[in-house]
Amino acid sequence: MADVALDRDILQRIARYRRRRKARLLFLIAPVMLETVALAILPIVWSQVHGGPFFMGLQPGTRADWALWSIFMALTVLPLGFLLMAWTEKVPVAPGPAAGIDPYRDAAASLSIAAGVPAPDVVSLAVPTVNALAFSRSGKWSIGITEAALAAGLTDQQVEALTAHEAAHLLLREGLSVPDRRARSLVTLMFTVLIIGPFLLASFMFGFSWYLGLACLAWTLLYLSWALPAGRRLRRNDDVLADTVASRLTCNPAALRETIELLEDLYTSEPAPFPPGAAYPDYLFISRAQVDRRLANLAAIEREGGGGGAISGATLP
Ligand SMILES: [Zn+2]
Repeated sequence: MADVALDRDILQRIARYRRRRKARLLFLIAPVMLETVALAILPIVWSQVHGGPFFMGLQPGTRADWALWSIFMALTVLPLGFLLMAWTEKVPVAPGPAAGIDPYRDAAASLSIAAGVPAPDVVSLAVPTVNALAFSRSGKWSIGITEAALAAGLTDQQVEALTAHEAAHLLLREGLSVPDRRARSLVTLMFTVLIIGPFLLASFMFGFSWYLGLACLAWTLLYLSWALPAGRRLRRNDDVLADTVASRLTCNPAALRETIELLEDLYTSEPAPFPPGAAYPDYLFISRAQVDRRLANLAAIEREGGGGGAISGATLP
């Protein structure tokens, strides 16, 4: 087996980061889990206190109660269904063969040997900016290089630096993640059951009253208005840490710094028109954020000499 360029220290940092990402995901679904658990033990507490059965039986209530309960529950399901329909982010993979992609494939293959992992797929993206992207489609992680980058005539070192940065994202298990239709439907269904299920249970216990329907709607809207933006923030890539890992893989932080400077210039001088609502621009090699911090981090690594780097790429959620 070839020498793995990543030492214990950086491997531990990668493992720590991956654990932290999982913890962030748990943090996002924690309120729904707490809701489910709290409302699930309610019948047990109720039966202990009142010495009666778990279920009080169907209490139909008045006609108006029923109608309002049904309307509120329908209004609760509506945004969840809408979210499923809107959740259709597509990675803009270019059709047909990609001229000039071989140097990137070679770089990805040798970097993967250095990292001790299988080589990822490298594909070209139909995006009009000199850029790159790490993404996962149906659970398969790949690197995308934009057609503009393939045509930009980057030097071998720049190709290696760009590929190493994206390969580092794959090691960190981050990037644009696009689950297939089945997975999307399953997640939505699970959430719907977890959010609405406890309120249904409570309705069976205490009767189908309008206030339970309204409580379910209010809780769902409150949770979604917090979790959707928080999820988008928490899922963002850590480009600083990816740069640090990439420098360890290539032992060439200077080339990565030059590549960032060059592509940042191109990015700001020729703004690319991205489709409205698309999430992928946030995941590009040069996106809208972090460039100054990345350059400072790489300069520090260069000063120390080699692919080290003391600045942690950690970003607080
Ligand atoms: Zn990145």
